[in-house]
Amino acid sequence: MAKHISVKGVVQGVGFRPFVYGLATRLDLHGWVCNTSGGVEILVGGQNSSLEKFIKSLSVEKPPLAKIDSIRVEEAPDDASSNFEIHESQAVDGAYQPISPDMAICPDCERELFNPKDKRYLYPFINCTNCGPRFTIIQDIPYDRPSTTMADFAMCDHCRTEYTDPLNRRFHAQPIACPDCGPFVELRETHSQFPTSGPRISSIEIRTSAILKARRLLREGYIVAIKGLGGFHLACDASNPYTVAELRDRKGRIDKPFAVMAANITAVASICEIQREEHLLLTSREKPIVLLTKKKQTGSQAYNVSGLVAPNLDNIGVMLPYTPLHHLLLNQTDPILAREPVPPILVMTSGNFSEEPIATDNKDALQRLSPLADAFLLHNRDIHIRSDDSVVKADKGNVMYLRRSRGYAPYPVVLPFEVKPTLAVGGELKNTFCLTRDHYAFLSHHIGDMENVETQESFEQGIEHLSHIFRVKPEILAYDLHPNYFTTEYASESKLDIPRLGVQHHHAHIASCMADNGLEDRRLIGLSFDGTGYGTDGAIWGGEALLASYADFERFAHLEYLPLPGGDAATRSPWRIAAGYAHSLGINVDDLPFLQNIDKQGLRILRQQIDRRLNSPLTSSMGRLFDAVASLVGIRNEVTYEAQAAIEMEVLSKPFVSLAKPYPYGIEETKNGRMIRLKELLSTIVQDIRANELIGMIGARFHRTVSEIAVDICKRARETTDLNEVALSGGVWQNQILLDLVWDGLRQEDFVVYSHQQVPSNDGGLALGQAVIANFEISNRKEHEEREEKLLKS
Ligand SMILES: [Zn+2]
Ligand SMILES: [Zn+2]
Ligand SMILES: [Zn+2]
Repeated sequence: MAKHISVKGVVQGVGFRPFVYGLATRLDLHGWVCNTSGGVEILVGGQNSSLEKFIKSLSVEKPPLAKIDSIRVEEAPDDASSNFEIHESQAVDGAYQPISPDMAICPDCERELFNPKDKRYLYPFINCTNCGPRFTIIQDIPYDRPSTTMADFAMCDHCRTEYTDPLNRRFHAQPIACPDCGPFVELRETHSQFPTSGPRISSIEIRTSAILKARRLLREGYIVAIKGLGGFHLACDASNPYTVAELRDRKGRIDKPFAVMAANITAVASICEIQREEHLLLTSREKPIVLLTKKKQTGSQAYNVSGLVAPNLDNIGVMLPYTPLHHLLLNQTDPILAREPVPPILVMTSGNFSEEPIATDNKDALQRLSPLADAFLLHNRDIHIRSDDSVVKADKGNVMYLRRSRGYAPYPVVLPFEVKPTLAVGGELKNTFCLTRDHYAFLSHHIGDMENVETQESFEQGIEHLSHIFRVKPEILAYDLHPNYFTTEYASESKLDIPRLGVQHHHAHIASCMADNGLEDRRLIGLSFDGTGYGTDGAIWGGEALLASYADFERFAHLEYLPLPGGDAATRSPWRIAAGYAHSLGINVDDLPFLQNIDKQGLRILRQQIDRRLNSPLTSSMGRLFDAVASLVGIRNEVTYEAQAAIEMEVLSKPFVSLAKPYPYGIEETKNGRMIRLKELLSTIVQDIRANELIGMIGARFHRTVSEIAVDICKRARETTDLNEVALSGGVWQNQILLDLVWDGLRQEDFVVYSHQQVPSNDGGLALGQAVIANFEISNRKEHEEREEKLLKS
């Protein structure tokens, strides 16, 4: 007898078949291996002991990029072949499988890239089965060259030999290429078309001329648009304040921090502290942007990054080169490249105007980015689907995802239960959407803020593409309750004739955290703290303690409702929130420094607006409370990016946290739940300001107060319900001080605490919760209907 084995997971385009081939040959087994649209199928025959070894080794010795979700083994008739073969791929209708994200260049390819004797010496598109583009070039499955944007490049004999040799590292590496047959780069200083034929010239000098020129321009202080893996970057010398200021000016990005790319870990260490976990993240295959603490004092020899890169922050987002092209741009030692020295740290920000999606296409980039860039480093390998850089930080042995995209998406979140094919469209900001089937939740790459047509188009294209490659025909549609979200409109206009469900924003956050932690359905306490989300009563929620399961929730406690003068627009002017909250709570703040430059007339109108309830929606938002306090203490009255005031307050508060004592606060038990009263808290803060207490100390005391409130509420919830598990979700949990305080506080009280593991706590993780909730609510609804029907019949 032989064994028929089906392997599911990320098993294509990752060197899995050659691995199987090698393993079978080594164990003297015969049969075949083949890719199908659903995974990898294997038939092996031979001695029983060898067969056992073979099955065990499949999951233990698998290649680095493979992710196995299941292995099914069945008895099968032996094909009695004499050797082991790799068969052609087979497409199976309706079958699907997870696909690998794009991965950074592997050490083997990096070595070859800088080896003057190698055929691909200094060739910017070197890759193998262990590295290179995947998700961004795949047009369809099974993952084979004709279904990728490499289809147009005919392999040369050399590449074909490697591609067809099962023992070669490049066996079936779909993006395989070399200087003779693959894509090429071109430097454009003016607005012109990309040439249709390129420098197929063996002379390394000519081949590298575009890169050398780009290096020179970067050194001289120019801004260069660079086509990368998932889109364009704008790059410039991070140490040059004039260039960085110019880039801010052109992009219309006032303070929002830029990420940088450093040539190597030594360059990173010259500007940042690097803990062990951070080192692992920086050098991981995914090569995300890692938030690192800036070095306080850089030595006189050290390389400096302009203060304009991440103003008023104590951290900076850093990544290492992740494509061969990045290595060529930043390398400091290769003799040919060294002819044009380049600064070891470059600003690398997404190639777009603020708030637009990242540009991916040469023509589009030349048009849209011309006002931003002095030159373009283009290439002719098309990007089929965009993927922004991921942003993470190390958090006590865990990874905290702030943006989950390149390197991670579209790896699925594996659910502990089966779900129907579902489309959940996510929220309005930091949008991602989610498609589910079987046990998989495919959370999309980062789409962005839905405020312009380009992002909306990118959202719609993304849904179309991912539903196609994962063969998801949605049977359920889930969306946010907010009537004015673009995503809600999209859902309501959808032609799909399927059950649809509006999901409350903060419930979705908590369900996302539960699914992220692989929890089965149950009831637990959810602290859903964020900036804004539509409540079931039409108010803006955001400081919510819920008792939640997947199918429903109850509001156990929340911050008291206060008016937000001007609605969402107030988030750009935290002074309005501070003055508005103080006014409605009857706290006099007229003498405080933060109001001294505010025009008296404007202040009077604001107060009238609140008294007359004109365009002043009520909110229980935790994010807005942070904004109000940050403005009260004088950090800033206006912000230029989301949560800026709160983030800057966190920076100033850090040194005082261990010394700070919490402020008083009130929790009122009402018929409709518990209300967290803020008058005592805010008036004590005002007293501290009058007493000239340090801003950092007031901020630290405030953080401690919120943490104490959080733990207090959970204890009260446990008293009334016996629930002992707490899930933390919502964008406010990106605040490390608060997360640490609440985490420790709850653990001291013997709570079991869950925070996010694989997806962001901000709205980038929302769609996962929406998808799971919709599945549970709709199946409950169905059960209920069936019961009713039975009752009627009987
Ligand atoms: Zn490689
Ligand atoms: Zn070639
Ligand atoms: Zn939210």
